Amino acid sequence: LSDKNKIKKILRFKTKKTKKDFLKSVVNGIHLILEGQKKLKGIGVSVASPVLNGVVLNPPNLPLKNFNLEKFLRKKFRVKVKVENDANCYALAELKYGCGKNCKNFVLVAIGTGIGGGIVINGKLYTGKGCAGEIGHIIISDSNKRCNAGHNGCFEAMASGRAIFELSEKRFGKGYLASELSEMARKGNKKAKKLLNEIGYYLGRGFVSIANIFNPDMIIVSGGVKEGGELLLKEARKILKKDSMDTTELKISKINKGALLGAIALIK
Ligand SMILES: [Zn+2]
Repeated sequence: LSDKNKIKKILRFKTKKTKKDFLKSVVNGIHLILEGQKKLKGIGVSVASPVLNGVVLNPPNLPLKNFNLEKFLRKKFRVKVKVENDANCYALAELKYGCGKNCKNFVLVAIGTGIGGGIVINGKLYTGKGCAGEIGHIIISDSNKRCNAGHNGCFEAMASGRAIFELSEKRFGKGYLASELSEMARKGNKKAKKLLNEIGYYLGRGFVSIANIFNPDMIIVSGGVKEGGELLLKEARKILKKDSMDTTELKISKINKGALLGAIALIK
């Protein structure tokens, strides 16, 4: 629940497994958070799925497929509803409140368990037919490592939080987060440093492709992997500088809850 761009209240629910239960929990959740509120201006929805005109197309982790969530919620609550992909929402938040504020062209790269992206061109979100910005799935390697969507050697397969976790499982017998490896490397663990370097190399390769296609003012990195911090990004910066046609600034997002802030921005 927000008042202008201030988040007032947050409720969390476990994702339900069937479409019926999922939608029921969304509607109940909205009713719950609205308790005691008199006026509702609108509902902004950030969802981990490609979205086209309010239709949630094919989310990998939600029980909805080709479902018009915008229409469904508008009917239930009789207010303005806007549904957008979560990384796109994050990019909107960067445009309004973050590094992208005085910037016309940028690409937001959200690196968590997977890798999402949001493209801003001329101060506006670019969504293509709904799937633009799925930069997690550009192919950057011949490796047979595979992402959840089934691509070998894509950006997400090579450089996401999951890739870091799985590679550290192999090397250390235990999976680590980027932040943990970063801490280990800082304390002198050479194996951790080497692993971060390797992932940084693939991050760099992804960034080069983004830079060469869009020639943006900057690439903004958000998500859990940014906790790997400068150690992880050092190699990425090196590759980006070496292999792209023009210089591109790499910035680390300073926004928290960007997807939520972006969803709020959808309604203004
Ligand atoms: Zn992929």
